[in-house]
Order: sequence, then C-alpha cells, then structure tokens
Amino acid sequence: HLGVSRALAEHGEPRAGRPGVAALMAAALPPVYVHSPEYVALCDSLCKVPKRASMVHSLIEAYSLLDQMKDEASGFCYLNDAVLGILRLRQKFDRVLYIDLDLHHGDGVEDAFSFTSKVMTVSLHKFSPGFFPGTGDVTDVGLGKGRYYSVNVPIQDGIQDEKYYQICETVLKEVYAAFNPDAVVLQLGADTIAGDPMCSFNMTPEGVGKCLKYVLQWQLATLILGGGGYNLANTARCWTYLTGVILGRTLSSEIPDHEFFTEYGPDYVLEITPSCRPDRNEPQRIQEILNSIKGELDHLVQAFTRRGA
Ligand SMILES: [Zn+2]
Repeated sequence: HLGVSRALAEHGEPRAGRPGVAALMAAALPPVYVHSPEYVALCDSLCKVPKRASMVHSLIEAYSLLDQMKDEASGFCYLNDAVLGILRLRQKFDRVLYIDLDLHHGDGVEDAFSFTSKVMTVSLHKFSPGFFPGTGDVTDVGLGKGRYYSVNVPIQDGIQDEKYYQICETVLKEVYAAFNPDAVVLQLGADTIAGDPMCSFNMTPEGVGKCLKYVLQWQLATLILGGGGYNLANTARCWTYLTGVILGRTLSSEIPDHEFFTEYGPDYVLEITPSCRPDRNEPQRIQEILNSIKGELDHLVQAFTRRGA
C-alpha cells in the first residue's frame, strides 16, 4: 500500500528541505511519503498480494520519486486503514471527505460513518449481482444524522477512462459544493485497471490520475491510499504513475532497471493499454444515477440554506 499525504503534519511547519521539496512548499502543501521497512514487509506478507508492496516501493524509488518527497517512517498500521486515518484527521479537521475509487464498494468505511454528518463517503464501484460485497446501490445514502452523507455510484463492467472521469468529476463537483470538506482521504485501489484478474473495469492509470488531479486542485490536506490491485506489476505501474502526478512529474515510458525489472515484460513500459472488453454502461442509466445523486445532495444544500437564513 502506498501512503502519500499532503500536510498531515503541522501546517506552516518549516521543513528542512531536500532540493525539490521547497518548490512544492511554495506552491501549496508539501507531499509526505509514508512508509517503513517493517510496514513494507508486513504488506508483502499478505497472501493475496505477496511482494506487492516491495514492487511498488522499489519502482517509485527507481523513478527517483522519493528524492522529491519528505520521507516519513511509520510503524503505525492506522496509516493503512482508511477508518482510523479519517478519525485521526477528524482531530484536526471538522469535515472529512472519503473518496473510494477501488473496484469494490467501500462498505467498511461507509458503515463506520453512516450515522454522522461530519464524514461524507463517496464510492464509485462495480455493482452487479453476486459481486462482492453486494452493497452500494445509488439508493444507499446514509442513515439518521448521516442521511445524504453517503454517496454511491454503481458502475458496470468495461468502463474506460473518459466516461469514468466524467462521472467522477460530475459527482465530486456536487459533493464539494454540498459538503465543503476541510480534508480528504482518497483510496486509489488499482483493481479497476485493465489486466487485473478481477476482469471488470477497463481503466488505465491516466484515467485514475485525472480523478486524482481533480481532487488535488481543491488544495486541501489529502491522505492518498492504495487499496485493491491484483495484477502486481500493473498495480506498481499505477501507483508509481500516480505518485508522479502528485509530484507534478512526467515519468519516462521505459521502466528503469531495478530489482523487479523482469516483472514488467514483455514490453517494459509504464503505460497500460485498455483491453477490448465491451463497455456495459448505458449512457441513459449513468444519467439516471447522476440525477439521483444530485437530487439527494440537494437535500443538504437546502438544509444549509435554511440554517443560514
Ligand atoms: Zn477492490
């Protein structure tokens, strides 16, 4: 898992700079890369994704992206846990927005905060009979005081970058206006990427990167996490590319020579090509879903207006 955060530590704290970091400080909030050898070893031992953390970490290192970030060792596994990460952020920020772009519904995080209006959860995911975990229909909007603070975007197989980004931008624009977040936790599972054994969506890292850029232009404190991703080489490609996006770096197409180089054959390039899987998302159904989400979020806008009046 990848943990990159922007200014989770003290705002305005002077940072003894490595070259490169200073420029980012002037621009906005300095990125911090959270990892430790113990943390990588622990993630590597997960049976579903053996060695994945090492592969991601060493590809990020091979592209020299670490030189540009403040490096923060951490032995705390809460940094890998979205719920505990949100609770930690809540100590400093009033309203926290959780955005989950993993292939699966972010049910655990939604459940944890379904009764509160302080944390809004947004999940874009595959929603299909028999597909895990089976929750997250568009009608699932939260409960009690948290009603309208859960947003779910059910998507079908085969979606590609352009349509996915349009959906993501439309939803996030409405969410931002309705909720006015103070901080963001962004989960970027790579199981949506073409070539994943989940065989569902047909995305590339560029499409996910556009969604990431949209969130970063808010210039809020943002904690960025990995997630699913079971084609290990593609997951490492994806999270390395996204780390480049965070740093404003364009990465060369050729995978640099490093410990896991042979995993990237036969082409040894950073880019991922979409497959020819058909897109099962009807434009009309997508529009219905977006209209429904806008209708639910309007309840919040009206509530704020009433309170302000
Ligand atoms: Zn997943």
